[in-house]
Amino acid sequence: MISSDSIVVMQADWEEQIRNAWADGGFVFEDNFLDTIWEMSITAFDIPREVQVVVDGKMNLFISAGDPGFVWFKEPPMGMTLPIECWIHTHPFGKAYFSSTDWNTIRTWEPVMKYAIVLGGNESMEWIKGEDHTVFYQKCEIPNWAGEEE
Ligand SMILES: [Zn+2]
Repeated sequence: MISSDSIVVMQADWEEQIRNAWADGGFVFEDNFLDTIWEMSITAFDIPREVQVVVDGKMNLFISAGDPGFVWFKEPPMGMTLPIECWIHTHPFGKAYFSSTDWNTIRTWEPVMKYAIVLGGNESMEWIKGEDHTVFYQKCEIPNWAGEEE
């Protein structure tokens, strides 16, 4: 689903690519599934767009894309089975953190949601129900120290 008619799709199969990547399963940062969601967010549309994927209680995917800050599932999508296994969305500007809107979504859905991930390219943040802290991942270059050994 796309939030607005004014969004131009450059890769017609963007949803299918995400569904195919889901065959590999898993919510691990930099694995194929999350990587593909990020890649579609950056390359599938006229400009980088927010992509959201809800994995429901039956491991079915509900995929949407839209304008920045767009939160798709204020209303539960038709056919979605609770509890939600994982809510994933991208911040195409490249910073992974839960915005106040995101926290409102998590607070609203927390009784029936286990896991939330926000992707920012080289970064990822995860919220897991019942945990006291979110977890932040950042991909950094390892310094090339080989040249310093003289
Ligand atoms: Zn967000």
